[in-house]
Amino acid sequence: MTPAILPMHHLEPEVLAAYASGTLGEGISLLVAAHLTFCPICRAAVADLERVGGALLDALEPDSLNKDALDRLLARLDEPEEVSPSPPPPVPPKGGGGELAALPAPIRAYLSLSDESGPLPWKRLAPGVRHIRLMPRGAEGSNARLFKVAAHTPLPTHGHKGSEWTLVLTGSFTDDSQRFARGDVAEATQDTIHAPLTGAEGCICLIITDAPLRYTSLLGRMIQPFTGL
Ligand SMILES: [Zn+2]
Repeated sequence: MTPAILPMHHLEPEVLAAYASGTLGEGISLLVAAHLTFCPICRAAVADLERVGGALLDALEPDSLNKDALDRLLARLDEPEEVSPSPPPPVPPKGGGGELAALPAPIRAYLSLSDESGPLPWKRLAPGVRHIRLMPRGAEGSNARLFKVAAHTPLPTHGHKGSEWTLVLTGSFTDDSQRFARGDVAEATQDTIHAPLTGAEGCICLIITDAPLRYTSLLGRMIQPFTGL
């Protein structure tokens, strides 16, 4: 079996921290969950963050505010990893011309297909660009869509007041001389000027737009001074 190629472009630590503490919006949470299916590096980071968050909460419990609290916190962080070192096995092809099989399970769950052997319900958006909306548009303009973009075609990205994340599911695109392939995440903010262009095999990707990150959890607030967001 050919070893899986690991993603080269990952999620920012503050996004993973917000995911681990449950404070991300639904769309970006879906993108993180899908990236984690490709990426043992970010899986390990999220597992660490969940352990840190749990340990912090334990340490902040009133009955644990004693001299043992820090020792217990440090001991928990030294506990052995339970993270799988290799990506999950590929799913056998079926349906959608093999497209469905290329999608991570969290995204397949959002498609809610009645017939998994049929084609995916792509809707034409522009020449060379089809899309599938995965969840209702959010009140603040958040959006979660799959895009299927033909070869050598610009990706349908745009400026807005929030951030935009693109996760490559098949094929590739290049942006500012960087190449993004299966499992890679590209993040653009409102200040980003970019013109991503698909490669020779086209691209299926998940594009999420969301309002700026807000950290409402304890962990989020604790890391906010360090991330500068
Ligand atoms: Zn990653």
